[in-house]
Amino acid sequence: MTTNKEKETTIFEKMTKLSIEYNSINLGQGFPDKDGPQDIINKAAESLKKISNQYPPMKGLDILRKNISKHMANHYKLEINWETEILITNGATEALASSILSLTQKGDEVIIFEPAYDSYKPIVEKAGGIPICIPLLTPKWEITYKEINKYITNNSKLIIINNPMNPLGKVFNLSELEAISKIINENNMFVISDEVHEHILFDNKNHLPVSSIKGLEKKSVKIGSAGKTFSLTGWKVGFVIASKELIDLIGNMHQYITFTVPPNLQQAMAYAYQKPIEYYDDLKIEFQNKRDIIYDNLTKYNVKTFLPEATYFINIDYENKFPDLSPEELCLELIKNAKVTGIPISVFYDKNTQKSKISKLIRLCFAKNNSTLLKASEQIGKFFNS
Ligand code: PMP
Ligand code: GLN
Repeated sequence: MTTNKEKETTIFEKMTKLSIEYNSINLGQGFPDKDGPQDIINKAAESLKKISNQYPPMKGLDILRKNISKHMANHYKLEINWETEILITNGATEALASSILSLTQKGDEVIIFEPAYDSYKPIVEKAGGIPICIPLLTPKWEITYKEINKYITNNSKLIIINNPMNPLGKVFNLSELEAISKIINENNMFVISDEVHEHILFDNKNHLPVSSIKGLEKKSVKIGSAGKTFSLTGWKVGFVIASKELIDLIGNMHQYITFTVPPNLQQAMAYAYQKPIEYYDDLKIEFQNKRDIIYDNLTKYNVKTFLPEATYFINIDYENKFPDLSPEELCLELIKNAKVTGIPISVFYDKNTQKSKISKLIRLCFAKNNSTLLKASEQIGKFFNS
């Protein structure tokens, strides 16, 4: 049996289609408008001819797992056993599916913070779990022990966090992560932390990987993706880092879903994860510069936004200007009249979430050419002031 939701295409496909139809600037789906680093692409092309094109190991190429382990040591001083604690997946999406399906039984309650990335809830439901959606509230989008604890029952099994958070651009701080650790340990739960934006951070913010938090070392699953870190979103090479016991469990699911990941892309990713710290610094500078361009230009037109701490998404807060329009309605107005496509934040909430808790925001992706950002923000600014 399928639900109506499953018959729909994702919001990202839908908005891209509308963008083409109305010939508008597409700041909807999150992807850079230029290709990824040429040296990494060359490595993948070269590897097609140099290494075997038959099935690589189920857990991923040794060299890639070794280099991801080194990356965790270099960036976070965490010691990860590459043989037992890392699994390579087909993007973060498959990592999420394999992790959620293997950690959720029928009737388990899974806590999700809203606005939530679109794939969490459908996977939880397919696993037979019950999503428990907690809306975060503007302006701080803060999570606290007290608030989460209100939602805990005997069936609570899992918490899914997205740190840094898409679509809000929020970075979880130590006390929020410690609150999660307390809940997890008091109730014998697990946490999945989707960290695909771990390297797109601004204003010298620090990323705290989930297993660096006391009490979460063995109770957590970290998910990463080369798509965002190396601006190669079409490659779909992701990974899971967790304890040996959890990797064995998640690996069992992964082997029946996709089994393995194209070897040449894994080889190229192994090369990419050896990049020096300057690569990551440059990535942050490049995206922070783009964030500042769109933020400053929208501010110039008195369009209110939340300054993101991370990710390549910024949200327009239009409540004061168009209080009667829903995010979907305003998004359509923007496509037709300002010729800019965004994503209505409402799609990241459950249908049962109280309307008053759904923020009136439109998400814009700023991983685009600077002149595109200037043009798009000017068009939005003029529309807001017309
Ligand atoms: N989680 C979040 C929060 C994302 O923004 C994305 C998109 N990059 C994904 C998961 C999916 O990542 P991938 O393309 O590696 O499957
Ligand atoms: N992660 C991207 C975003 O948030 C889109 C991924 C997708 O198209 N499913 O926009």
